[in-house]
Amino acid sequence: MSRLVVVSNRVAPIRQGKATAGGLAVGLHDALRQSGGIWFGWNGEVSKRPETACETIGNITYVTLDLSKPDYDQYYRGFSNATLWPVFHYRIDLARYCRKEYEGYRRVNAMLAEKLKPLLRPDDILWVHDYHLIPFAAACRQLGIGNRIGFFLHIPFPAPEVLTAIPPHEDLFRSFCYYDLIGFQTETDRLAFQDYISREAGGRVEADGNLSAYGQSFCAGVYPIGVMPDEIRRQAESYRGRRPIIGLTTEGRRRKTLISVDRLDYSKGLVERFQAYERFLEHFPEHRHNVEFIQIAPTSRSDVKTYQAIRKQLETVAGHVNGRLSDLDWTPLHYLNKSLDRRTLIGLFRTANVGLVTPLRDGMNLVAKEYVAAQNPADPGVLVLSRFAGAARELSAALIVNPYDCLGMAEALDRALRMPLEERKERYEDMMQALRAADLNAWRDTFLRDLRSFGRHRVVTA
Ligand code: UDP
Repeated sequence: MSRLVVVSNRVAPIRQGKATAGGLAVGLHDALRQSGGIWFGWNGEVSKRPETACETIGNITYVTLDLSKPDYDQYYRGFSNATLWPVFHYRIDLARYCRKEYEGYRRVNAMLAEKLKPLLRPDDILWVHDYHLIPFAAACRQLGIGNRIGFFLHIPFPAPEVLTAIPPHEDLFRSFCYYDLIGFQTETDRLAFQDYISREAGGRVEADGNLSAYGQSFCAGVYPIGVMPDEIRRQAESYRGRRPIIGLTTEGRRRKTLISVDRLDYSKGLVERFQAYERFLEHFPEHRHNVEFIQIAPTSRSDVKTYQAIRKQLETVAGHVNGRLSDLDWTPLHYLNKSLDRRTLIGLFRTANVGLVTPLRDGMNLVAKEYVAAQNPADPGVLVLSRFAGAARELSAALIVNPYDCLGMAEALDRALRMPLEERKERYEDMMQALRAADLNAWRDTFLRDLRSFGRHRVVTA
């Protein structure tokens, strides 16, 4: 079997016996272990004299490099996170564009391709991840690299009307076309991509799904990313770590708990969620004193301005809700601005009666899947899920809500808390079936199978 080369913005080597990595990292490591290969990308460090480091663990070689300050500012903080991220999440209002940053974005992609080239063998298969690296294949082709290259977009792909807000959208889109296979989380994303091909790029979408544009032909497919549901269920069952004291009354009675876990990001709908929770307590006062909401929201990308703003806004709303509604023996909202390890999260999911996952837009949302997988089959909790999370496609048995509908979300919370056991079990079984049918291994194996079979080897005339 040909070697696999994974290219992603961040690389985190997994050492034997260390189980802190997330599911995705573990899944990719398994693929690398099966065929041997390289994991290549940024190590997360910024330094004056960028260096490349190489470390081999088993049959995987991790090749990582630092970024210079201008590269970090332009490629990562600038174009990736202040232009692409907001636009791809339908937030043109929060996006900014700076030509210099776009140049930096392309420059870093070209530099990465150059550093990778001497490490490649002719039959290696490359799998490139996410929005930081859209022009990576085009940069490889320029260097005469003819290997098969696949790309997976972890975030949504926006409708052409939204994408075209990025001034160099045509140049950006053109660079997609040098991949052999492009994978999306949902059909909606793939259709938006095809829409751009036919309406903006003057390309063609063939009946068999093959695509062509700008003189290149390539394929696109839908590969919803999954979790390992039975592994999570086992972890949740055997969890013996810290238990929250949240949800306990002074007399030791258990209150019902709601849980949300998100990076502190404006795409996650945190402010709207807090407001809906306040509306829920106003509209259904019988739940007051009987329910508590835990929001875990670790800070993310704190050097991007829009993230500083959302954090302030959230602190204000959280203070407002608690200031208005708390009592001497009851705090309705627990907002933890910190990260917790996965094991603790899974233990928390198990104890929470409701998982509240209400992003305004999300590529997939793994938390939604993890919450379901962690439930006790004999007495499962209820998932309240935004229709704008990619996960809503598969988890249609959740209570699906529109995060822009404050009262609608409040009503869904009331319904979730009152839901009879039989209905909860039915919905849980439905969702577990969906999670098992498209787990993390299936995501990885179908993508790689398609890349090996459809992706044709390019003949490069250097
Ligand atoms: N996560 C974690 N600790 C935290 C918050 C999140 O381990 O404090 C994990 C969570 O369990 C999930 C991932 O981070 O596996 C977040 O993935 P998701 O798709 O929900 O959102 P993203 O952050 O990728 O937008």
